[in-house]
Amino acid sequence: MTRKTLWGIDLGGTKIEGIVIDKEHPENVFCRERIQTEGERGYEQVLENIGRLIGKMQKITGISADAIGIGTPGTLDSKSKKLRGCNSQHLNGKSLDQDLRALLNVPVTLENDANCFALAEAHLGSAQCADSDTSVVFGVIMGTGVGGGLVVNGELISGVHGIAGEWGHNHLDDSGGLCYCGKVGCVETIISGPAIEKYYFEQSGTKHSLDKISHLSENGDDHAQRTMKRLHHFFGQGIASIINIIDPNVIVIGGGVGNVDSLYLEGLIAVSQHIFSPTLKTRILKPALGDSAGVFGAALLVR
Ligand SMILES: [Zn+2]
Repeated sequence: MTRKTLWGIDLGGTKIEGIVIDKEHPENVFCRERIQTEGERGYEQVLENIGRLIGKMQKITGISADAIGIGTPGTLDSKSKKLRGCNSQHLNGKSLDQDLRALLNVPVTLENDANCFALAEAHLGSAQCADSDTSVVFGVIMGTGVGGGLVVNGELISGVHGIAGEWGHNHLDDSGGLCYCGKVGCVETIISGPAIEKYYFEQSGTKHSLDKISHLSENGDDHAQRTMKRLHHFFGQGIASIINIIDPNVIVIGGGVGNVDSLYLEGLIAVSQHIFSPTLKTRILKPALGDSAGVFGAALLVR
């Protein structure tokens, strides 16, 4: 039997996840498998593991992949065709898509994980549940790092440098200090999970997780309330800068910081105060696919 399938791989720092879904009804999953990345054993081992995972899924489904989508950290440099900016260091400077094409003998499409998140949420996730026009969807990742992806009429926009959606390295406020990218005061230095926890520590002298800080704030802790107030303010400024430029129908907020409930109340008020419009019509939503968005998005790259 010939079934039309889409194959996706989400290459993470600790795990590689693979999925085979139905091309016509991508919510139907034929196979989903995970293995260890083993990045500490080097790039060649990671390539071999991806090959092994594809082989395993071909055996389970009885189908051969005719194209594979891959979600990775970092960006594929549009000029050198090599990966850069990956927090998994073994990938930087590598031509992962070309190497996988040679290894697997099928076409390979590679995108960063924030773009895969945006694509999956636009096609199968929150944007589809939002009961509104979804022609322009911006997917935000606010976790250890801050990134994003832009989907217009169902298609990813990569841009001339391959950095479309990378709002995490826009300037937000000098108080964030030096960013790993070499600039000062990037969005990521202010509203990523570690940045929020660092600010709370500087205020209180105590280390707490973001969840705990959020909880303490609700219970009247001064330092926590100041930390959350600052988060709402800068979330408002950061998101408003996205809206003023691309004016999306929907923004989906992924990553650990996106789980903070007050972003959808006080955070939205701050967005309203900073956009160039008297009313906020953009739907700002939590993701619907959870941790699955990356691997579904990777498969949708080859639809
Ligand atoms: Zn930066």
